[in-house]
Amino acid sequence: MPMVTMRQLLEEAAKGGYGIGAFNVNNMEQIQAIMRAAEELDAPVIIQASRGALQYSELIYLKKLMEAAVERHPGVKVALHLDHGNSPETCKQAIDLGFTSVMMDGSLMADGKTIGSYEYNVEVTAEVVEMAHKHGVSVEGELGALGGIEDGHGAGLAVDDEEHLTDPEQAVDFVKKTGIDCLALAIGTSHGAYKTLRYDKDGNALPPSLALDRIEKIESNLAAAGYPAFPLVMHGSSSVPGELVDVVNKYGGKMKKTMGVPMSDIRFGIERGVRKINVDTDGRIAMTGAVRKVLMESPEKFDPRDWLKPAREALYELIKGKMKDFGQAGHGSEYEAVSLSEMAKRYEAEKAAV
Ligand SMILES: [Zn+2]
Repeated sequence: MPMVTMRQLLEEAAKGGYGIGAFNVNNMEQIQAIMRAAEELDAPVIIQASRGALQYSELIYLKKLMEAAVERHPGVKVALHLDHGNSPETCKQAIDLGFTSVMMDGSLMADGKTIGSYEYNVEVTAEVVEMAHKHGVSVEGELGALGGIEDGHGAGLAVDDEEHLTDPEQAVDFVKKTGIDCLALAIGTSHGAYKTLRYDKDGNALPPSLALDRIEKIESNLAAAGYPAFPLVMHGSSSVPGELVDVVNKYGGKMKKTMGVPMSDIRFGIERGVRKINVDTDGRIAMTGAVRKVLMESPEKFDPRDWLKPAREALYELIKGKMKDFGQAGHGSEYEAVSLSEMAKRYEAEKAAV
């Protein structure tokens, strides 16, 4: 089965009331781990690559690895998504590479650091929608700006920054003016492992306090404006489990005590229209812990497979857990895949109907 569109995955998830994990990849082992988990659990899945990942893999390797992935796991419904595209040119590059979905992050200017104006965001996002939908490719937009910096991307906003949270009134206008397929929310989540660096009096890490009420407001505003069940996206949603950080530190790592987004917050979101949940950091920590363990316990080893295999295994286990938690497990074979060309026709018909 060729890759499917994110639009279809999220529409089906909305019908079923579950969330879909969007997992970041840079290399073969990560793709293998995610695809194996998806196949075994019959889970539709989104695999995403950031600009940094595309640079690391020199674009062509990632494209060919994903082609191998769908050939090896023909039963898996997988969308390939560009994470945080910084300009229409970058999105076009991804579409030309065969991505079935792109994110145009117009919350920041093309440098990926400076906060962009609302008008700029609407303009570049609408431009990408126009270009992508012709090919049947889905588009994610972002309104408000996320905290943290990852892979050099981000404005570095503080965790308690409220000025750049998604405005529930503006969300409707943004969806209407751009024609996006899903909307990334800024509700206090941030990228990376250290989301708050706040601790209680006993030194235990505290989780970020998310503006969950905004999810509710945005969902109901969109529904009232004629966008029922509009798919919302949570970025920076790693839970940063203490057990994983402990493994890293037990074998010589020096990660600070930290806490990510609790599953209860993610569940709250899923119950109110969040359909795509971005997870990168947890996978990084799981793999690093596995590698450290091997190298520390068996310093005589020098075959990269000796540590790449356990790293891949650790990611596979983590992804399986996420797929069960988000609810996507068991839904992959419920529906037939819609091709990109069929999706392009649907977009054209929708446009004509407006
Ligand atoms: Zn993100």
